Amino acid sequence: MNLTAESHRVPLSDGNSIPLLGLGTYADPQKTPKGSCLESVKIAIDTGYRHIDGAFVYFNEHEVGQAIREKIAEGKIKREDIFYCGKLWNTCHPPELVRPTLEKTLKILQLDYVDLYIIELPMAFKPGDVIYPRDENGKFIYHETDLCATWEAMEACKDAGLAKSIGVSNFNRRQLEMILNKPGLKYKPVSNQVECHPYFTQPKLLEFCRQHDIVIVGYSPLGTSRDETWVNVSSPPLLKDPVLNAIGKKYNKTAAQVALHFNIQRGVVVIPKSFNPQRIRENFQIFDFSLTEKEMKEIEALNKNVRYVELLM
Ligand code: NAP
Repeated sequence: MNLTAESHRVPLSDGNSIPLLGLGTYADPQKTPKGSCLESVKIAIDTGYRHIDGAFVYFNEHEVGQAIREKIAEGKIKREDIFYCGKLWNTCHPPELVRPTLEKTLKILQLDYVDLYIIELPMAFKPGDVIYPRDENGKFIYHETDLCATWEAMEACKDAGLAKSIGVSNFNRRQLEMILNKPGLKYKPVSNQVECHPYFTQPKLLEFCRQHDIVIVGYSPLGTSRDETWVNVSSPPLLKDPVLNAIGKKYNKTAAQVALHFNIQRGVVVIPKSFNPQRIRENFQIFDFSLTEKEMKEIEALNKNVRYVELLM
């Protein structure tokens, strides 16, 4: 694979392709000043990022859309240069809700299509306006839905041109097999977005996905923001790892750049989140070096099989 900034894309099974590096945009809305996402996406586009990872539940999709539209208006990019990934939330799994939910996202973005639309999680919550529905005891209210029926509604969104590609997120092998073995399957999921970094390398899922032409998109590729409200902080901070730092020293790179490069070198797409201009640029400087086979093995050996994002729901 030729890893240069110009050719850093991987093919998808439906004939489209996805940039190996994207900007993650999840930030706690309570703790993040309004407009930070807008500014960060614009800086990312100026830096050379063409892939933006977002979601309705990040509550900043309007800022992502505005940044993309402003950069198009400036003549910096064309719509087709950008790869935007949106996500179907848990309260919208019933098939009849899928297309209206995507249409709502498109309205928020003020765009005509998303490049990739993914089922964010394999389990459904009670449909309605409450994003995290809970009963009187504080327990999540789940909803019985058929993931295969949800998938058929996703296929219809692709056929309608509202999503160029469709995929999934947080699916395990069994859930992927359910879709892949669905009678009358029209489109396979092109990608599965899961936690993936040197402390959680996903060897088995990666192999399974490779066999089925499903690209792994690695979220929390820098080991998360370590926000204790949703992150398992008992696992040590990834970027302090001595091996990543020692390898970085050799190439004059940071541990973050080594962690990102490790994944792209093995064909895993990375979507590091940063709303800091310097770190947005730093995370883009990962195409001008390559790791030896020995270094790749050393990093693989860091795997602890422990998730930062436990998704206890
Ligand atoms: P991450 O990208 O691993 O880490 C983000 C944290 O690292 C932020 O606190 C960021 O702070 C900091 N950071 C960024 N670049 C850095 C660098 N070069 N050096 C040091 N620190 C750096 O974590 P994430 O946000 O959990 O995951 C990334 C994206 O994946 C999300 O934004 C979201 O788009 C997606 N995601 C998807 C799911 C899912 O269920 N599908 C789950 C989790 C995340 P600054 O902003 O201050 O730079």
